[in-house]
Amino acid sequence: MTRLAVTGAGGHMGREVLEAAAPRDDVDVVLAVNRPPIEEVAGYDVEDEADLPDLLAARDPDVLVDFTVPEPSVRYAEACAEAGVAAVVGTTGFDADERARLRAASESVPVLKAANFARGVAALRRAVREAVAALPGYDVELTETHHNRKRDAPSGTANTLLDDVEDVRGETDRVHGREGDHPREDGEIGVHARRAGDVTGEHELLLAGNNEVLSLTHRAESRGVFAAGSLDAAAWLAGRDAGWYDFGDVLDDDA
Ligand code: NAD
Repeated sequence: MTRLAVTGAGGHMGREVLEAAAPRDDVDVVLAVNRPPIEEVAGYDVEDEADLPDLLAARDPDVLVDFTVPEPSVRYAEACAEAGVAAVVGTTGFDADERARLRAASESVPVLKAANFARGVAALRRAVREAVAALPGYDVELTETHHNRKRDAPSGTANTLLDDVEDVRGETDRVHGREGDHPREDGEIGVHARRAGDVTGEHELLLAGNNEVLSLTHRAESRGVFAAGSLDAAAWLAGRDAGWYDFGDVLDDDA
């Protein structure tokens, strides 16, 4: 049984994680925190995130699961490094300095960071690499759609998919939307971020050329898929050596 701490417990994803954890027998939530105002979530008492360092020492969780925003997320990872607690980081939108601080935390404890905990997105990433390798010279465009509260654009998952394309094809020019007289240049990838309603998350990679179009699409139908994946990651991460891990490491072990 993996002892869990959950941050951002009052957020959309934090709530999903707590609801998904309750019926599972491989994880046990021993601590849930949020910034004030604090309320009970899914039957769990939620405490003040400002007290996290003391609470980690008192409750002794194995793994912390975080879906918040970059500033507290990095702070929580550093508290984990101090307390010897592994960290699963689902937050997106980190800048270079914040990413470096997460990496530094992983020198003391295991840190698993993933922009997307859906198994279908892991499969999409493999399909994208294969399609881009099979279709050299085809134009690539990426479109993602998320709910109207999302802060970072393009999404962390979109950036990961673009990195996958570049790993196969070499560096590209990422063009964020187009306006005015803007003919498409060779080597550019159009990146389009739509924000509307309560869409959980959709990513489409389009490859077009040679009188044909290939469209690879993933659609998350509820946040539960991310919560379940993050809990699988937490159970997998407990007891590992300090270091930097990806959701793919969890799935490789499942295969
Ligand atoms: P949300 O706005 O519903 O929740 C954000 C949480 O962060 C809340 O609990 C809020 O209190 C907390 N928070 C915000 N600012 C804070 C601060 N300054 N100090 C302390 N706490 C603060 O957002 P959400 O939809 O739950 O998404 C959270 C993050 O998870 C986002 O970065 C999103 O992109 C990411 N996300 C990742 C995945 C994945 O699979 N990796 C899936 C969905 C969402």
